[in-house]
Amino acid sequence: MTLLNEILSFNQKFVSEKQYEEFTTTKFPDKKVVILTCMDARLFELLPKAMNFKNGDVKIVKSAGAIINHPFGGIMRSLLVAVYELRAEEIYIIGHYDCGMSAIKPDEMLQKMIDRGISQDTINMLNYSGVELDEWLRGFEDVHESVRHSVDMVKNHPLMVKGFPVHGLVIDPATGRLDMVKDK
Ligand SMILES: [Zn+2]
Repeated sequence: MTLLNEILSFNQKFVSEKQYEEFTTTKFPDKKVVILTCMDARLFELLPKAMNFKNGDVKIVKSAGAIINHPFGGIMRSLLVAVYELRAEEIYIIGHYDCGMSAIKPDEMLQKMIDRGISQDTINMLNYSGVELDEWLRGFEDVHESVRHSVDMVKNHPLMVKGFPVHGLVIDPATGRLDMVKDK
């Protein structure tokens, strides 16, 4: 049985046995918080548990490395939607130690793309047309610095409410310990 089939048959049971009932809530976050964090699998349950959040308490936006790639990209838009449409009153940007994005080497990742069938011509063409793949794929060296940079980007975004609370933290993916980076 493929994973997809397993998921679908589990899902039928989940719904018919009404296992969803314990998760019933609304689209508005009860704690009025939106979190931007990394997609790391270790944080999936650990992060909300370590912060004492349950289903319905918070909005969670995820990206590789908790990085906001672009001031007008999907991550920033999600934060703005949470603030203006979904009643979030605080933003938490939470990076983590041992993050995959601190290890990404753009050159090596491009080589992996070539190995899996992307042509060098495509990569050249994107580079010539101004995408700057090297920059786009690059992660960070220092997670504290990266979180600080994201906090500043959100605080200073032209469409963000002036003086909106944006907190920067780093979580330990083994213990769930939170370290404060920046609180504005
Ligand atoms: Zn990560």
